[in-house]
Amino acid sequence: MAKRDYYDVLGLTKTATQDEIKKAFRKKAVETHPDKGGDENLFKEIAESYEVLSDEDKKRQYDTYGHNTPKQGPSGDPFQDLFRRSGFNPFAQGSVTRPGTNMNLTLKLALEEIFTGTSKKFKYKRNVHCKPCSGKGGTNVKTCTTCGGSGAVREIINTPFGQIHSAVTCNVCGGQGFSYESICVSCAGEGVNSIDESVDIQIPSGVVENMSMVLSEKGHAVKNGGVGDLIISILEIPHENFIRTGNDLKFSVKLTYPQMVLGDKIDVNIIEGGKIRIQITEYTKVGDIFKIPSKGMKLLNTGTRGDLLVIVDLLMPNKIDSEERKLIEELKKINQKIAI
Ligand SMILES: [Zn+2]
Ligand SMILES: [Zn+2]
Repeated sequence: MAKRDYYDVLGLTKTATQDEIKKAFRKKAVETHPDKGGDENLFKEIAESYEVLSDEDKKRQYDTYGHNTPKQGPSGDPFQDLFRRSGFNPFAQGSVTRPGTNMNLTLKLALEEIFTGTSKKFKYKRNVHCKPCSGKGGTNVKTCTTCGGSGAVREIINTPFGQIHSAVTCNVCGGQGFSYESICVSCAGEGVNSIDESVDIQIPSGVVENMSMVLSEKGHAVKNGGVGDLIISILEIPHENFIRTGNDLKFSVKLTYPQMVLGDKIDVNIIEGGKIRIQITEYTKVGDIFKIPSKGMKLLNTGTRGDLLVIVDLLMPNKIDSEERKLIEELKKINQKIAI
């Protein structure tokens, strides 16, 4: 009997997306599963169709050649492909588990939150190992008979100069060296399912930009492999008043000429909220810095604080009234006399 078209088996057309292929497989697999009294041969046909169509490499080959796929590795470089795919093989001695996939997340924090420390709760989607198949994608492992479990087959090419022997990825098992007698219905053979995860993390006071926190095994799980980490990187939202330099905070104040010459008491903002009164000394110049000890950011894991640096700038009026004009002209005359 001629082999049926894989798309026909799943009731799909060639334009079907991966999502549609997966959905069609799940539906058909549930209907025909032998454990539930379905036809075993039909189930195997469905599983085989899905195995090919859900794998981009195999699907491309099938779309091009149909059932007459030539015996070649799916990629241009079969050796590289073998190395890439041979990470997990349950029959290999001392096999290396494929690592999970790490996820990266940027957490934006206001300077006030960094000062006090905070807790953040957030939700995200991640893949976890499918429970029914323990993350394998199927049950009843069988060694691939085509490659004998090695994942590679020898290919002999006859050339005018003699035979060339080479190893290419096994077409039947995709280089894994094994396959499953039944594909898992819960995960459509993918070994993982997507879940809504929520984490609650504590941000200590004094974290700095680009610092990252690693939440072990909160990333993506991979089929026949491990679980990746969730890596949270801190990003500081620029503050409208303060500029952070290390553990110190810079704060700019604009003062009038009389304030700078005569000195004054002024109130400046502090990061914990509220204000603090400071003394501007007489004859202060533009760019002078008044250092207020221990009013900066907290140092990570200690109670100590950096300093607040108040930087003086000149407040230039955009408009002056007649009385101010009179006084400034008077002052100008006096200054000119001094200059002479
Ligand atoms: Zn094989
Ligand atoms: Zn499963």
